[in-house]
Amino acid sequence: MKNVPPEEKMHTDREGAAPRVTGLHPLVATRLRADGGTTFAPVPRTIWSTFAPPDEDNCIPVIAASLLIEWSDGRRALVDTGCGPAHLHPEKLRHAHGIAPGWDLENALAEYGLAPENINLVILTHLHWDHAGGVALALQRFPAATLVVHSREWNAAVSGNPLFAKSYPAEIIASLLKLPKERRHLPQGKNPAIAPGVSLMLTGGHSPGHCAVLVSGPQRLSAGGASLLSARGGVLFAGDILPTRHHLRIGYYTAYDHYPIHVRGWKMHNLPRLAGNGTAFLFGHDADVFAATIKPDPRRDFLPEKTLPVPAPPSTTAASHPD
Ligand SMILES: [Zn+2]
Repeated sequence: MKNVPPEEKMHTDREGAAPRVTGLHPLVATRLRADGGTTFAPVPRTIWSTFAPPDEDNCIPVIAASLLIEWSDGRRALVDTGCGPAHLHPEKLRHAHGIAPGWDLENALAEYGLAPENINLVILTHLHWDHAGGVALALQRFPAATLVVHSREWNAAVSGNPLFAKSYPAEIIASLLKLPKERRHLPQGKNPAIAPGVSLMLTGGHSPGHCAVLVSGPQRLSAGGASLLSARGGVLFAGDILPTRHHLRIGYYTAYDHYPIHVRGWKMHNLPRLAGNGTAFLFGHDADVFAATIKPDPRRDFLPEKTLPVPAPPSTTAASHPD
């Protein structure tokens, strides 16, 4: 059966015009840490440790980023959902990744007076645990949401191919398979439209069907009220094709990339054009910078230009409440 794109279900404004994007807010879905070596796979430690100083376990602070999209008809989407509530993960994994108790995504939504049940669309760049875990492990907390994931990614994740087993944890896939078919939208093609002003950009590289999510047209990103970034060429939620601002270098990639040469190819072909038209990039895991417009650099390929910082973590007291 052909899925009905969520955009066709959307109401029009009172004037009859299509809904427009009225709010774009980057959120911290999960604060965690990642091994520096796997984050900058081909880069020697003597180099990456100068711009990303590791802790005693060779780990660097990262976040799992999310993006709240609001439309003029009152509907809302989240792009990616982080790892999910901490207590749903085994103690060993929580410790290895430094995941604090609680659920950062729920706290971040609460700052906008929202909860997961207010979300109508969850758009996933791909189905790795640190992007899909939030919606998959806490599915019952998203009773109103339709899930959007590219069909190529979905098919790889549910294929049972043992080569992908570690990339797509069984509990995440089993949970997503419980979603009724009418709440799963699995678009195809290179640039499928998802909702008014929002489309997927199939990148591959990091995973078989990894997508960036493009919000077209001049946009303003805002985080925490005061902090703003204007982007004349739209906003691209890059997911893991650009996990941090350091990965703007064409030759940098992660040890988790299924097809590293495709990651390099995607950046080589797309970054010059997107930098030129003033697109703002949201990084999947950068602990310091939510988003940036970028400019070419003769030595380092591309550098952040205007940036939107990630807010400081809440105080230890505030973060140490029980699950
Ligand atoms: Zn990933």
